[in-house]
Amino acid sequence: MPTLRDCILLHGPDLNPIHCKTFAWQDDHVTEIAVGDPAPTLPAPSLVVIPGLYNGHTHVGDGALPDGAAGLTLEEGFFRPHGYKYRELGKLTPAELREHMTNTLQFMARTGTVAHLDFREQGAEGAQLLREASNNTGIDSIILNQFNESPFDEATLDAGTASLPASALAELEAMLAIADGFSESTMNDLTPRAWREIRERTAATGQLRAIHCLENPAYRDISMRRNGRGDLARALDTTDYDADLIVHLTLANAAEIKLMAESGRTAALNPRANATLGLPLPPVTALLDAGARLLLGTDNVMLTPPNLFAELDFTHRLARSQATEARPSVPPPVDILRMVTSNIRPLLGGDHYGYLDVGLPASFVVLDFTAPHLRHTRNLLASIVGRVGTADILATYHRGRELWRSAELSF
Ligand SMILES: [Zn+2]
Repeated sequence: MPTLRDCILLHGPDLNPIHCKTFAWQDDHVTEIAVGDPAPTLPAPSLVVIPGLYNGHTHVGDGALPDGAAGLTLEEGFFRPHGYKYRELGKLTPAELREHMTNTLQFMARTGTVAHLDFREQGAEGAQLLREASNNTGIDSIILNQFNESPFDEATLDAGTASLPASALAELEAMLAIADGFSESTMNDLTPRAWREIRERTAATGQLRAIHCLENPAYRDISMRRNGRGDLARALDTTDYDADLIVHLTLANAAEIKLMAESGRTAALNPRANATLGLPLPPVTALLDAGARLLLGTDNVMLTPPNLFAELDFTHRLARSQATEARPSVPPPVDILRMVTSNIRPLLGGDHYGYLDVGLPASFVVLDFTAPHLRHTRNLLASIVGRVGTADILATYHRGRELWRSAELSF
């Protein structure tokens, strides 16, 4: 059976670094972890094994348009029906779209990612193309599908009483037959009754519900004007949409941070994408202090390359700058690393763990800490979060399947 010897491994849901004489796997699961002493630093140059990474928010469908939205606002670049993204994706054939998505997933595997939650546009057909790209590459695409076209016009949304029309109900059925759940751009894109209909439909089959909240001021302002409540409050209300996953929270105030944490639901932050669009950065440290369960995402591929090591680096530095000089150990790097590993478990369950132990899926990444710029680290977790480049990633495995392996690594 395949085996790595004398490595350092991040063990269990707390990602404890340990010496590991033998790490072995067979078929799709881990068969042996010989747990040795704690390894906060490296006594000798070593390979380091970490769990395979989960990207909590992507749009890989626009991988065909890298940097296409440079210089555009959120609305100009990304909103239906006339935003740059929708105009340009409409010009590509299904085969071209699938090829671009496959290329994007291969880049994600090359940079340590084994699964992602994708907010897939273009309705059921868009979901089907991503499903095919996922099967081709071995990366798990957890697809949260959105309507191809908005079911309501502005006047109907302002009136706020309409149910989903029959055509939208039919599209919802078609999407949920392929996808793992539902997503939309904002809570302002559907009526309150439509959100309740979608909650009831997805709850019946145990499928996921996700939504972008508080990305820019309009999200909260329009929601307040129409409903007397902000978009986050409506998204989390168990009698409205009852979302499992909230994305962004860039503008979350103290009350909204508390609401998010007390909901027990999961939030995915995307600080590099927010920065690229000239938006405020999410309150990472305040959310962590409040006890919110957080993921990290890279958002649209046209905005940011989906490399989670880059997102970890940016996020940890951002969180440190929000923690102030008086709290020099806050937040510890392991809290940031959990955002792409073990924090996924409560949201997805099943065979998604985000951590390594005997009997669990063999989903892991091998890092080259024999390299001169890494081997002398005095803080292994800080170096994983802040110093690993693409060339340092020697292999990515998901459920025992090799998604990427460098010719330099043999076992
Ligand atoms: Zn999104």
